[in-house]
Amino acid sequence: MTRKPGTPPRLVSLRKRFIWLLAGVIGLFAVGMALSLLFSLRTNDAAEDHLLNVEAAQARASVQRRWDYYREVADKLARDPELQDVMLVGSTDEKQQWAISRQRLMPNILGLALVSLQGEVYGDTRLLRLGPSCLRDLRQHGVRMQTQVLIHRDMPGLEHADLGALVHDAGGGALGMVFLSVRLAQLQRIVDESTQPGHAIMLVDAAGNPVVRSGSLEGAVREVSLPLSSTGWTLVAQSPIHRITHSGRLQILAGMLTLAAVLLLLVVVALRMRRPVMQDIDAGLHALAGLTRSESAPPIVTRYVEFASVAADINRIAQQLHDQREQLATLSLTDSLTGLPNRRAFETRFPQAQGLAERQHPVALVMLDIDHFKGVNDRFGHGVGDQVLLALAQSLKELTRRADLAARLAGDEFVVLLSGLDAAGLDAWYQRLSDHFSNELNAYGLDFRTGISAGQTWLGRSSSDTVHDALARADHALYQAKARGRGQLVQDGPPATDGTE
Ligand code: GH3
Ligand code: MG
Repeated sequence: MTRKPGTPPRLVSLRKRFIWLLAGVIGLFAVGMALSLLFSLRTNDAAEDHLLNVEAAQARASVQRRWDYYREVADKLARDPELQDVMLVGSTDEKQQWAISRQRLMPNILGLALVSLQGEVYGDTRLLRLGPSCLRDLRQHGVRMQTQVLIHRDMPGLEHADLGALVHDAGGGALGMVFLSVRLAQLQRIVDESTQPGHAIMLVDAAGNPVVRSGSLEGAVREVSLPLSSTGWTLVAQSPIHRITHSGRLQILAGMLTLAAVLLLLVVVALRMRRPVMQDIDAGLHALAGLTRSESAPPIVTRYVEFASVAADINRIAQQLHDQREQLATLSLTDSLTGLPNRRAFETRFPQAQGLAERQHPVALVMLDIDHFKGVNDRFGHGVGDQVLLALAQSLKELTRRADLAARLAGDEFVVLLSGLDAAGLDAWYQRLSDHFSNELNAYGLDFRTGISAGQTWLGRSSSDTVHDALARADHALYQAKARGRGQLVQDGPPATDGTE
């Protein structure tokens, strides 16, 4: 994006950007997880549907096979040639005997009886194992029972389904009906074996009443219904619909753990980065604030290479300002012509000398003034006058130690602080200075003579002695030197040793 020249850049918050980044990561993660879960649920749904269809088809085939077998058994019995004779000419007792003998051959069959076209049972119904509901239905429906299947549950443990097959004579005329009661337990076993764990399968009749049932499900279920032929029944298979499957749950857990790990990593990295970044920024800010207050501070040391060039710039500027300040301080304390400390420098150093004098150390203050200097200026010019001033400054530099201080007060007036000298020592020092000054003038190629007048006072005469008082006393002594004919040192008395005059 381009910015119009002159418009300031919009300020942005690093913290907000980071929070947006976190929110973006979480959002993308959540969307990714939701999509992956959705697809896996869809795939799972299709697989579950397929499995249930296969399960229902297999169960239906098993039940159908078993029922067809019973139907075939009934039909075969009805076509038995012996049966036709029994039906035509046999006594009731013979009919019963025939039924009981066949019943013994088929343990899965509960009851077996021969029935007249009017629905009357031949023989002892107890021995033929026919319950009251069977008899009632036989009387009611007669041979029509051959076309429909009835369920009886009136005898607990002996629940059964009834079916019949017509018995014909040689000419095809109906003689009666073979009646079979098939235990529902047989069908129940098939359904139980076909039902997967957690699923449910049931056979329901045409009226919707359950014939047998294996398992039962609550809540949302997926369902497959397959009709059975020749019974009017339907096989219904059910399996539960899990909103979130086990693998889906694992998927969500894995996603959440990954998300938590990513967030933790981001937060740890951010926190670990934040401290040194803030330290670098703070160091820069402190350094800049120090610069605006003209304070000197140690150079900034950065941790990140990205801040290094900025820190180097700040350090360079700080060093330049520091050097300039030092230069200014030196200039403000230095006399520009002679390079000697000026009056301000003298006043700054004075308390130190005063403190030394108060500790019983002799410190002399000597004020010097070149004799007839105005005349030198007038006769030889200002430039020569300057050279005379430089000659005296050079002599003073040569004849003072590090503990001493020589300064130019103004014009041709100089002042010296000398420690460790007594009166005689001061006289000798003055003499050396005068000689050195003459030699310096020679060295500068100036062939005239001019002397120096000097007035001396001792520091530490009282604890309330000020630079102004001391200068006034020395000036007074200097005045006396001038008055006594110039070119001499006038001392204002012996040094005070007890703090009083
Ligand atoms: P005295 O013996 O009584 O001291 O007489 P003097 O001529 O030296 O008189 P005074 O000390 O009053 O003269 C100071 C002169 O120093 C006056 C001024 O023109 C001159 N002066 C002041 N500053 C400078 C300077 O920087 N260079 C030069 N060449 N002359 C200066
Ligand atoms: Mg003078």
